[in-house]
Amino acid sequence: MYTIKTEKSEKLYNEAKKCLVGGVNSPVRAFKPYPFFVKSANGCHLIDEDDNTYIDYCLAYGPMVLGHANQEVLYKVREQMDLGTAYGVPAKKEIELAKEVINRIPCAEMVRFVNSGTEATMSAIRLARGITGKNKIIKFDGAYHGAHDYVLVKSGSGALTHGSPNSPGIPADTTKNTILLPFNNRELMEKTIYEQKDEIACIIVEPVMGNVGCILPNDDYLKFLREITEENNIILIFDEVITGFRLSKGGAQEYFGVVPDLVTLGKILGGGFPIGAIAGKKELMENFSPNGAIYQAGTFNGNPVSITAGIETLKCLNDSFYTETTKKATILSNHLRDLSDKYNIETKVYNIASIFQVYFNKNEVLNYDIAKESNTELFNKYFFGLLNNGVFIAPSQFECCFTSIAHKEEDLTNTMNAMDKAFKSLK
Ligand code: PLP
Repeated sequence: MYTIKTEKSEKLYNEAKKCLVGGVNSPVRAFKPYPFFVKSANGCHLIDEDDNTYIDYCLAYGPMVLGHANQEVLYKVREQMDLGTAYGVPAKKEIELAKEVINRIPCAEMVRFVNSGTEATMSAIRLARGITGKNKIIKFDGAYHGAHDYVLVKSGSGALTHGSPNSPGIPADTTKNTILLPFNNRELMEKTIYEQKDEIACIIVEPVMGNVGCILPNDDYLKFLREITEENNIILIFDEVITGFRLSKGGAQEYFGVVPDLVTLGKILGGGFPIGAIAGKKELMENFSPNGAIYQAGTFNGNPVSITAGIETLKCLNDSFYTETTKKATILSNHLRDLSDKYNIETKVYNIASIFQVYFNKNEVLNYDIAKESNTELFNKYFFGLLNNGVFIAPSQFECCFTSIAHKEEDLTNTMNAMDKAFKSLK
């Protein structure tokens, strides 16, 4: 519950509910009793309509790695807007960003830009099915690959938070081709592939599961997926909508040294503007229309404003970006571990590069089933403990937190104090 003044947000929420379903435009944004309404954002800060300021670790669910309203990015975006905002014909900058993606991401030899991560995974799966002529796909329990029909089964993120990991409205005929398996489990994967390899087009995997908190792949699990897919003529898709450009310049595939066939990207790639991309080996990508028969299209694909923001954002992601953001996430994660000891509260804290999350759970969180056993009531108290002390994280145990280049030492100190107060309130 809020203890800070949020009257204006409450009023806006009551107004919003009349014209927007649940008062929001994406379910992850809804929390009880009502979400605060943002007025502006700058650096690592959000300011709400009641003039409360929050240090932001949600960062629009990932894209804002440079913080909000980064002036270098916005300067170029404004310049681009004067030159037009959508063309419907190709433009030079699309090549520039595509080359940047290819230079950074190991598996990327060709790129197709789309408008969201959802579109990217939908098209990547279609590509895999079209190329292999096989219908089934493997997805992991609790993984979130966007809100389309092939993958909205045992899904993470808002679907899990709001109790609808299997959405009604998706024909059983569609999801019968989606095989669900637990992450980090080799035996079940081996058995499934042994039995059904001739029907399985692809495995789609978030290399680090960021939509049920933060679940890391255990020893060589990604390498195991690479080997078993290669041996069985199955396409391996890394969904790097979160991890792309975040774990390292080349994303999770560079970080873990495992190169998939295809990658899906989004979030950071658009520098705060809508974008998605599918990239991968040339021989696979060339099957997309107009060169191949597998159809993929979009009015706003390669939108010049998003492309410009992406180019400018990637320019800022140098070595020191990775050192700095990792350091911040490590400091905050260690502080959470210390607080668990100090207040004798059982937690498991995970962090990798600029991602971190605390689970109120006594067991090591290796997969969705274990993550689901976490104490979400305690998490909710922790969330409000932070919020009332000026820190915003995603309002769910089943999301993760991000650090950015914009978080300064003072912000970290204030965050650690807020974490202490939040933990104290859990006793
Ligand atoms: N894939 C992953 C791993 C994601 O985290 C998300 C969104 O959170 C998506 C796909 C879908 O991306 P979008 O929300 O841009 O459609």
